[in-house]
Amino acid sequence: MTHDLTRYHRQMLLPGFGEDGQRRLAEAKVLVLGCGALGTVVADMLARAGVGRLVIVDRDFVEATNLQRQVLFDEDDVAQALPKAEAARRKLARINSAVDVAAIVDDVNSGNIERYAAGVDVIVDGLDNFETRYLANDFAVKHGVPYVYGGAVGTTGAAYAILPHTERGDAPWERLEEGSKATPCLKCLFEQAPPPGTMPTCDTVGVLGPAVAIVANFEAAEALKILTGNFDRVTPTMLHFDLWSGSFAQLKVARAYDDGDCTCCKHRRFDYLDGRLGSGTTTLCGRDAVQLTHRQHAGRLDLNEIAARLRAHGNVMTNRFMLRAELADNGREYELTLFTDGRAIVKGTREANVARSVYAKYVGT
Ligand SMILES: [Zn+2]
Repeated sequence: MTHDLTRYHRQMLLPGFGEDGQRRLAEAKVLVLGCGALGTVVADMLARAGVGRLVIVDRDFVEATNLQRQVLFDEDDVAQALPKAEAARRKLARINSAVDVAAIVDDVNSGNIERYAAGVDVIVDGLDNFETRYLANDFAVKHGVPYVYGGAVGTTGAAYAILPHTERGDAPWERLEEGSKATPCLKCLFEQAPPPGTMPTCDTVGVLGPAVAIVANFEAAEALKILTGNFDRVTPTMLHFDLWSGSFAQLKVARAYDDGDCTCCKHRRFDYLDGRLGSGTTTLCGRDAVQLTHRQHAGRLDLNEIAARLRAHGNVMTNRFMLRAELADNGREYELTLFTDGRAIVKGTREANVARSVYAKYVGT
């Protein structure tokens, strides 16, 4: 469908935007990875702004506890147990019918990201785990696609737009008159994924709706700058804040590329994309269970620390080899068994997506 430009009048008035910027948006394609609290706000803003094509990928269904912050969903979506990507697509179609939204209900992994991210101009992070973020970062660096990172938990949030260093150094942001605007990648910034269990997750410490909305809107703004070619306006620092204490910081992270020896963007090794790192999943036949392996975290789990947090959610027992927790989640019962080497078995499902979701919710990533 064609875009009637009149509805974008207030946006086209902005410096560096204009009709040209608006036409660029109409031609653009954005991948929104994850459609929870961050992803719904990002998709909402980008659809309203007139981004031509949105690809939304999410593995979950809408639950009542999502409604506190996931702005595209309502009680009808919960009653119908709609997949988030599909519920988002339906809502966005009513907001801006000129936007082509592809709703994909799937777990993003090394086997499918090349397909979902093919031809996109920007990847925006609406994810809840670092493993998939590193996968997205690998793709972004390999193919020279900007990747806007964002994360929020509790009352805190962080966001940063990554303009990757490309192999030939010929991306538009690397060839500006005032010099290259290429940034460190996610791997430069966080060398290793925090071990599962050490990062708080929204399901264990909660999350403040406005904190997520700030992160997501910052991400959306950076994406709009990138899509309209305003690379000189991309924020060179990482936003970090805690709304509860009222502290805001702009972290100077630009030196992380020069100072580091990044395996991803300097040595161009894509461990997550090539499937060398990341969690494998195996359905355990006849046991109504799925096994997850987190190879990169071997021997690093503190089961007692995780057990202390999980006790708020159900019965937990531990011994020196493993932790077992009974968890009631969205009306279903799961038994999570977690081993010190990061391996986990989720009983109560045969679907890898469900098991990974339970793991991400209660253990972290
Ligand atoms: Zn890097």
